[in-house]
Amino acid sequence: MHKELKTPVQYLKSVGPKRAESFREIGIETVYDLLFYLPTRYLDRSNILSSSQVIKYTAGGYDGEVTIIGKVLDKKVHRYGRKQLLKVSMEDSKGIFECIWFQGIQYFKSTFNEGEFFAVSAKPVITKYGHLQFTHPDFDRIDKEESEAFRNTGKIIPFYKVPKELKSTNLGDKSLRRIISFAVENYSTLIEETLPESIIRENNLLNLSDTIKNIHFPETYDELAQAKKRFKYEEIFSFELMIALKRFSTKSITHGNSLKTDVKRLKTFLKSLPFELTKSQLNVLSEIRKDLESPAPMNRLLQGDVGSGKTIVSLIAMIIAIHNGYQAALLVPTEILADQHFKNISSLLKGTDIKTSLLIGGTKKKEKEMILNEILTNKTNLIIGTHALLEENVVFDNIGMVVIDEQHRFGVEQRSKLIYKGKSPDVLIMTATPIPRTLTMTLYGDLDVSIINEKPKNRKTVKTYLRSEEKLPDIYKYITDKAKEGCQSFVVYPLVEESDKIDLKAAMVHYEELKDTHLKDVKLGLLHGKMKWQEKEEVMLKFAAKEFDVLISTTVIEVGIDIPDANIIVINDAFRFGLSQLHQLRGRVGRSDQQAYCILVTKSDFISKASQLKLDFTYMSSKDIEKNKSILRLNAMVNITDGFELSEIDLKLRGPGDVFGTKQSGLPNLKHVNIYEDYELINKAKQDAFDIIEDDPGLTKPVNQQIKSNLKNNFSSHIYYSLIP
Ligand code: ADP
Ligand code: MG
Repeated sequence: MHKELKTPVQYLKSVGPKRAESFREIGIETVYDLLFYLPTRYLDRSNILSSSQVIKYTAGGYDGEVTIIGKVLDKKVHRYGRKQLLKVSMEDSKGIFECIWFQGIQYFKSTFNEGEFFAVSAKPVITKYGHLQFTHPDFDRIDKEESEAFRNTGKIIPFYKVPKELKSTNLGDKSLRRIISFAVENYSTLIEETLPESIIRENNLLNLSDTIKNIHFPETYDELAQAKKRFKYEEIFSFELMIALKRFSTKSITHGNSLKTDVKRLKTFLKSLPFELTKSQLNVLSEIRKDLESPAPMNRLLQGDVGSGKTIVSLIAMIIAIHNGYQAALLVPTEILADQHFKNISSLLKGTDIKTSLLIGGTKKKEKEMILNEILTNKTNLIIGTHALLEENVVFDNIGMVVIDEQHRFGVEQRSKLIYKGKSPDVLIMTATPIPRTLTMTLYGDLDVSIINEKPKNRKTVKTYLRSEEKLPDIYKYITDKAKEGCQSFVVYPLVEESDKIDLKAAMVHYEELKDTHLKDVKLGLLHGKMKWQEKEEVMLKFAAKEFDVLISTTVIEVGIDIPDANIIVINDAFRFGLSQLHQLRGRVGRSDQQAYCILVTKSDFISKASQLKLDFTYMSSKDIEKNKSILRLNAMVNITDGFELSEIDLKLRGPGDVFGTKQSGLPNLKHVNIYEDYELINKAKQDAFDIIEDDPGLTKPVNQQIKSNLKNNFSSHIYYSLIP
């Protein structure tokens, strides 16, 4: 890097030591850092009108939002009755207009000072006196010069986030923009290129220094689009390089243990099962068996909707490894789930010579020592556990198979910790959070993928309803009636304790209340996140043994738990939950041949809005989608039961920057690309990255040194597993 770029921001015009300190608090130390502090939005010139144009269009029936730039003339607080109103009069070159506020009057009064310039955006109204008026508009403060430049040359104005650290040293929109503008003018040409020349040429990308210049102060919208494209490309290119490195590194290992299936023993086991495997389960099994036979380690992602029967498939894979003399480990996210798997698997393995152990945080010290010893000496074959399995004192004699359940609950590092306890063991990763088909290849390009796309026979789809809170008494009556027929129910709440800030129902408070009122005729249990795991476990066991009919719970029941007779789930404040979480919760019921119901409860105005919105929201503007997200989610839940379809919708509902699946993949968060909109660019960048790594898996060729050092500098924490020495 050019040494001038390492200049501390302190030495920039109008920064100084105090402001430099506040910059440091948000991670900006050098000029280079500052150049990469990007605008979050731009003043959209295409929306800007003069006051006379707005009056004309509004009179003509236009009722969209507009932006208008003006100077503050004066401000007055009007009182009428007990209420107040702030009116700020402003003018632009074509006339006068006013902005009014009913709330936050003191704040807005001190914000809008006479003589200052603002861009205000809102829906315009013409008052009965013929005045052009905006109510509670969005606004941006700008310079007089900026306002003129903007009007005369059509310059685009960038806006940056101004975190409180900066505000505390009197940095605002305008001053921050000036400092960055100075940095861009004087330093951006010193930035060195990070992408290979051939990639830039072939994809028609801007070089990095022009990109920086144009992302901050574009002359035209086309320049801005070019700069954004370059950021997107580079982001996904680096991301895919890492995936490719990982892919080719596992493929090139041949640890030599190709596992043979002892067909006779396996058949005996399959016959002992209380059910037959579905076709889909059998297909996945044969894919897994091929991986196991090959000398390269298996690295497979098993996707299957909740309740599709992934556990048994993974168990068979583990059994094959154990028949070949290896140990197998099953890593799960919660102690309850670990315990449930342990009980189920032990009972399925009864009569075989496979020894199963459970290792969790709550395991007693003496017992733990014994289990650790058995793991070390290969006296136990199949170890089920939580994070406790990742601790250093867990040393396997000979681990050949690692299964990770509910993988999205674990980070890459956690997964690797277990995997590195063996010598390139076979790895099976399972997820019940379906990943959109369009994404799997991109985000999980380092894994082979199997999908169970069929539910066990006799399963009915869960019926889902959206109901208002006023209906709760009826719902509780229904639950009470069904309890008499032996049907159990979950009633789920979003939080543990009533908080002062958010008025959400809390499981504990409601348990107490329901016990004496609506649900007094049934037996109630309570489960929440603040309980110790043994307490939770006790409650779950009692529920499974039907000692009570209704379980009041927070989201701790979310993953994996299996209670076949629970066929109703009521989810309170359903609008608070994400789509995949709702789908997971719904997956807790419908695990037998009985009809199951999922009742989403929410405020009544949500219900009426929901009935107005169509399921297909592709016609909506992104602003409208943003506003109606939670309703659209609920609508999707009511109409769609397939997890993959829901995941596609989830993807469309999440804006850029909040990309589905990246957290799960454990790779760095994508800031620039929108996985949904930039699909083609992503595919191209992926292809480019894979071509390079396939040709040079160790990045040893001279042409690739730039890429290599760039990866090392920016992503070192993510490539520890790669072949880069
Ligand atoms: P998930 O894929 O959500 O982890 P599980 O593996 O917990 O699902 O399976 C859900 C339930 O279905 C379990 O009770 C399991 O025993 C049962 N199950 C699995 N496969 C079959 C099958 N082929 N036929 C009937 N029931 C099955
Ligand atoms: Mg499961």
